Amino acid sequence: MTLTDGSRVAIVGGGPAGSFSAVFILNLARLAGIKLNLDIFEPKDFTRTGPPGCNHCGGVVSESLLQLLAAEGLVLPENVVMEGIEGYVLHSDGEEVGITTPLAEKRIAAVFRGAGPKDAKDPAWSSFDGHLLALAQAKGAKLLRAKAETITKLTDSRLQIRAGDESHGPYDLVVGACGLSREAAGLFAGLGFGYTEPRRYKAAICELHLDEETVASRLGESMHVFLQDIPGLKFAAIIPKRSYATACLLGDAGKEAMDAFLTSAEVRGVFPDALDPSRTACACLPNLNVGFHGEPFGDRIALVGDCGVTRLYKDGIGAAYRVAKNLAQAVVAHGVSAKDLRAHFAPACAQLRRDNLLGNLCFLAVDIIKKLPFLRRAMLRMTAKEQCRPGHERLMSVILWDTFTGSAPYSEIFARAVNPVFLGRFAMEAVKALFSR
Ligand SMILES: Cc1cc2nc3c(=O)[nH]c(=O)nc-3n(C[C@H](O)[C@H](O)[C@H](O)COP(=O)(O)OP(=O)(O)OC[C@H]3O[C@@H](n4cnc5c(N)ncnc54)[C@H](O)[C@@H]3O)c2cc1C
Repeated sequence: MTLTDGSRVAIVGGGPAGSFSAVFILNLARLAGIKLNLDIFEPKDFTRTGPPGCNHCGGVVSESLLQLLAAEGLVLPENVVMEGIEGYVLHSDGEEVGITTPLAEKRIAAVFRGAGPKDAKDPAWSSFDGHLLALAQAKGAKLLRAKAETITKLTDSRLQIRAGDESHGPYDLVVGACGLSREAAGLFAGLGFGYTEPRRYKAAICELHLDEETVASRLGESMHVFLQDIPGLKFAAIIPKRSYATACLLGDAGKEAMDAFLTSAEVRGVFPDALDPSRTACACLPNLNVGFHGEPFGDRIALVGDCGVTRLYKDGIGAAYRVAKNLAQAVVAHGVSAKDLRAHFAPACAQLRRDNLLGNLCFLAVDIIKKLPFLRRAMLRMTAKEQCRPGHERLMSVILWDTFTGSAPYSEIFARAVNPVFLGRFAMEAVKALFSR
C-alpha cells in the first residue's frame, strides 16, 4: 500500500485541512518523482457571501501559522487579509488593558473564511478558504464541486466515493477533511477503523456591520478579548474586519450566550448598539471539535483537521496545517496502510492530544480567574504594569497572548504558567487586589 505513479488520491472537503493536505501531498510527490491524480470533493463555493460560501470561524490566523506559511512561500495576499492585528485589548470589570505582541510586530491576520457576511455586496476582498483551495488547484488538484455521500471499500482494499449519481475512484488513499459535517459518521463509520464522532460544543459567531471609521475608532487594529463569566463560555472576542466586527464565542455557548455577551456592559461600552438587529449582518452557531477519541486512520484512509484530531479551542487552522503536513510525509514517504499511518502519522495526532490535556488545564485556570473578581483585577493589573517592561519580562502578557491568539502550544503556555517567578508575582498582585478596592 504505497503511492506510485498514477495513484489516485481523494480529499473529502476543501476547507483548510483539505487544501493543505492537497498542497503538501502534491509537493512531496513531485519531489519524490511520483505523478498523482488528486481530486478534492467540495460542494461549497467560496466566492459566495453568507453561509453557502463560509466555513464559520472567528477568522484569526495565528502568528505561528503566518510564519509557517511565509516560510513555504505561501504569503496571504492583501485582498485576503481583512485586518493585520497588532495587539489585543483585554476587558474585565469595566477596565481594559492593551497588550501588544511581545515582539512588537504585526503578525496576526483577520480573514473571512468565505466571501464575507450575507449582506456584503461585490466585496473587495477574497475568501481565505477560496485562496487555499486555489493554491491546491494550482498544484494540480482537481476540484469536484460535489458532496461525497458514501465511501465504499472494494475487494482490493481501495476506496470508491459516491457523490450524487456518480461513482469516483477507485482511490489508493482517501483523506477525510470534511470538518464536523453531519455526513462524516455515514462516510467513515463503515470503513472498519473504529471511527467515532468527535465531541463537539455549540459555539457562536455574529458579524456586526458598522463602517470602517467606527471599527477603526472603537477597535483599532486590536482583537478585543472579554473576560466574562457566562455559563459554558471559554473565550469571547470581537475582531475588527474593515467595516465589520466579528463577535466570536468559543465553548458550549450558543445563542443565549451571544445575547448575554452583546448586551453586557463591557461590550456596550465598545458598541452601544451591538444588539441593534440592523447591525447583525450574519450570525451562526457552528460546532467546535473538543475531542476525538478514536484512531483517525485506517487502511488507505486518514482524517485531518476538525474531522479528526485538532487543537482545543484555538488555532484550529494552524492545527490543520501541521497535521496535514505530517500526513503528507507519512503517505508519500512511507505508505497508506494503517500500519504505516500508525507509525508515521499517529505520533503527530498523539502530540496534539497530549497538548490539549494541558490546554484544558490552561482554560480551567482562566475559568477560575473569571469567577473571582480579585483574581481578575490581579491579572489585569499585572498585565498593565508589565507593558513598560521589555518583551521577555512580560510574563502574564505573554501567557495571555499565547492563550488567546493560539500562537504557542499549550505545553509552552503551561510551562510559563507554573514558573515560580510568574506564580510569585501573580500571588503578590492577587493579595494586593484582595485587600484593595
Ligand atoms: C466559533 C468558531 C471560531 C473559530 N475561530 C477560529 C479562529 O479564529 N482561528 C482558527 O485558526 N480556528 C478557528 N476555529 C476553528 C476552525 O474553524 C477549524 O479548526 C477549521 O475550519 C478546520 O478546518 P477543516 O478544513 O478541518 O474543516 P472546515 O473548515 O469545516 O472545512 C470542511 C470542508 O469540508 C466540506 N465538506 C463537508 N462535508 C463534505 C462532504 N460530505 N463532501 C465534501 N465536502 C464536504 C465543507 O463544505 C467544508 O468546506 C473556530 C471554530 C469555531 C467553531
